[in-house]
Amino acid sequence: MKTKINIELLPCLPNHKESYFSLIAENAFDPSSITKFASDLKEEGFLGTSKEKKIFTSNNRIIIAYGTDSTNDNLNLSGFRKAIGKVISEAKDQNLSSINVEIYPTQNSDIEYISFVFAETVTLALYSFEHIYSNQIFPQKRPICVEEIKLFIQNTNQNLESLSKNISNGIDRGQSLNFARYLSDLPSNQLRPKDLSLLTKEKFTQLKFTNSTILDKIELEKQGFGGIIAVGKGSIYEPHLAIFDYNPPSAKDTIVLIGKGVTFDTGGYSIKSKKHHNEMKYDMCGAANVFSAAYIAAKEEFPVRIVCMLACVENTIGDYAQRPSDVYKAWNGKLVDVYNTDAEGRLILADVIAFAASFSPKIIIDIATLTGGASQIASNMAGILCVNNDSLISDVKKAGALAGEKFINLEILPEATENIKGTVSDYTNMNNKWNDGAATMHAAAFLKEFVPQNVDWIHMDIASMSYNGRNNGYLSSEGANSFGSRTIVNLLKKYSELN
Ligand SMILES: [Zn+2]
Repeated sequence: MKTKINIELLPCLPNHKESYFSLIAENAFDPSSITKFASDLKEEGFLGTSKEKKIFTSNNRIIIAYGTDSTNDNLNLSGFRKAIGKVISEAKDQNLSSINVEIYPTQNSDIEYISFVFAETVTLALYSFEHIYSNQIFPQKRPICVEEIKLFIQNTNQNLESLSKNISNGIDRGQSLNFARYLSDLPSNQLRPKDLSLLTKEKFTQLKFTNSTILDKIELEKQGFGGIIAVGKGSIYEPHLAIFDYNPPSAKDTIVLIGKGVTFDTGGYSIKSKKHHNEMKYDMCGAANVFSAAYIAAKEEFPVRIVCMLACVENTIGDYAQRPSDVYKAWNGKLVDVYNTDAEGRLILADVIAFAASFSPKIIIDIATLTGGASQIASNMAGILCVNNDSLISDVKKAGALAGEKFINLEILPEATENIKGTVSDYTNMNNKWNDGAATMHAAAFLKEFVPQNVDWIHMDIASMSYNGRNNGYLSSEGANSFGSRTIVNLLKKYSELN
């Protein structure tokens, strides 16, 4: 799973004719920087406008030219990441284990950030899930992987030592994100709820200023986590709640992060159809992705307290499993009528969102593969965002744009809150009009009822984004992609600076 990569930064590239890639970003040709490509680019009709990309070969060198963002004249991050993805896929196709890359940034580009993004993106692009698959049985079929990159950033006076540090930070970030993908790609018989809590704990406890607690079924029952118990009752693989607390001495505020960790979702007695059932091992992507965000923030010692909680559970059928129409008591004492056992994510998250009050957080962020309805809203173009304070919307959008992750805001209408009022209890877990419409909004409306008073809340539904998505150039369309992690890291960065 661990990506082995060595990126060496050089003052200039060795004169090497093969495996040579050049990445060029220009919106106005700067003759001093790209003289040697100017005629090639002209011949290709490359103007350097936003969204433009050209790939061509010249003197045994693959040139990937992409336009800059014309609105701010800065590096076009998304174009840059895609171009890096293209370099890696070309190198894989050609079975190259060692490549040379030149980067020609624009004059205004932040070279420090470019070197970081380059390393992070290369590490993401090189991920592949090889845990138990046939590579071990047929090693001769295993493709050669890029292990060494010699990198030259043109037109920079920055010292190599400082840029090299950014490169090693970028590789670290990429590997932390790949850990989320690895957990998500594991089949459910290799990742039970307890495994998810223990594998993440093992990693988290290696960091400074951390404290980890795992609540098992007995403890969850004792402490009144009725939703987690209700969902996990049918499985012999018992539910666990992992609580990871990073509390550096410099912290003033607390941010709570919560992830849905359903290691397999059969739907329970409201059982799913055969279609896509094999994908239900991915119902824990929220937990994996939010863990990676917390891990990155703790590893890089952000000056804010972060409490990251993963609700790990399997939703299945069996003698002890909950039935549609069962009523349970949630952590905050509210009664919930379970209309549909396949709407289980909100039951486990609601318990943890209410429990978050114990940490007096300034803000709660939850992330989950929550509703199939998310794909009807934005397909695989964007994650769905819901908030209880509109000022948070632009924070998430900006953080997402920087990460190359899109979110669209879904307003929770007051009618949706009415629709989840129970008849025999306080709430139902579905629209009580027994109408399947607006599933994503009703799920969010349910969760919002459990948010502690006066606490900001960000909810991300990533059901249509977290696995088997579009190939965006550097994240494969197969398997998990850690969607949302980088946006959350950017949010944590912003909020920790305000701390
Ligand atoms: Zn479900």
